[in-house]
Amino acid sequence: MCTVFIRCLFIKRSHIILLSFTLISGFLISIGLVLFSTNKIQNIDVNLEFDEKNAYDSIEDQLDIGYRIPGTKESNETVNYFISKFKKIDINFSFFIHNFEVHSTRVQNVLFKLNENEKKIVILGAHYDSRAKATKEDSDDPVPGANDGASGTAVLIELAKVLYKQRNKLDVQIWFVFFDAEDQGKDEGGYGMDDWDWCEGSEEFVDNLDNFYDSENEEFDCMILLDMVGGEGLQFIKEQYSSSSLLDEIFEIGRQLGYIQEFPIFPTSSTVQDDHVSFIEEDIPSADLIINFWSNPNWPHHHTKDDDISHISKKSLEITGKTVEQFIYNNYLDDSNDSNEKYIGYYPWEEDVFIIYYAFMILSGVLIMIGVIIALIINHFIIKKKEPSIKD
Ligand SMILES: [Zn+2]
Repeated sequence: MCTVFIRCLFIKRSHIILLSFTLISGFLISIGLVLFSTNKIQNIDVNLEFDEKNAYDSIEDQLDIGYRIPGTKESNETVNYFISKFKKIDINFSFFIHNFEVHSTRVQNVLFKLNENEKKIVILGAHYDSRAKATKEDSDDPVPGANDGASGTAVLIELAKVLYKQRNKLDVQIWFVFFDAEDQGKDEGGYGMDDWDWCEGSEEFVDNLDNFYDSENEEFDCMILLDMVGGEGLQFIKEQYSSSSLLDEIFEIGRQLGYIQEFPIFPTSSTVQDDHVSFIEEDIPSADLIINFWSNPNWPHHHTKDDDISHISKKSLEITGKTVEQFIYNNYLDDSNDSNEKYIGYYPWEEDVFIIYYAFMILSGVLIMIGVIIALIINHFIIKKKEPSIKD
């Protein structure tokens, strides 16, 4: 009688412990799932008009101009090319040329503004300079910069074209910024230009940001940088300086458009010193759409003379362009006429919300494991030890 009671007690105790851990874990998982699902990205239903053929043509145009090395006449010609493309969209497209010097070389960023009357500003940026030396193959010859330079700017121009058409329905001001002097710093093969640092253009731009907007009446929502977005075998990384909620949202938008390979669920993670970093330091949520350029079997042409048009993919341009286009519509299309559709993303892109989700998931997993281990110990050791006493 007594032994049966003890056996029951142990079975019950092991079951109760396992049940408790499972219930607690289930509860935590449920909270985690609810938090996840309430923030699940659901792209709004809208036509995307980004045309990759135009973007591809624009890369060719820039390569035709020549090497866009800071301070050269080709660089200057490229600036005029950007202005002519925006003037073609609207002869009155407002723009500012931001001139300054790096080591006595004249450098110029170009800023175009759409919807200047809107208070909230989204910055879309890309660098247009091409590297003066193909340092990754120990060459003093310049890099054509089809991907590293021309691809991001080509996508910006086409985005300006399609977003301009929707401008009256967008409750946001959009800046298209073309940075000079991003790509002349020192890699393992040496400097692009002697003693130049990376991202000279964007740093100077952010240092002078107050000159470009009215800080009393305007504010920055976010910044998205496009760098090397047109190569074959496109696969974006989880860039670690980027505001994670903003980058995650862009990844989810891309995946929902069907671009699973390009925005993988488990992407390569790394930090990249790129033009978005100065904006992050200014507390503007920023994300870098960039590839793995250091060990990428699909695109091994970084800082080599092979970074030419033959390794550019129209599909990659389309994927980048349409994902950013969808991001803008999701967040800023004035949908007052359609109350059924309410987009919920991670605006205003504060980072720490994700840490809570992950903490819930990890804690739940650990609790389940502890529960299972305790239950196994009780079942296998304590109950087995008691078993002979049943036969008494
Ligand atoms: Zn580069």
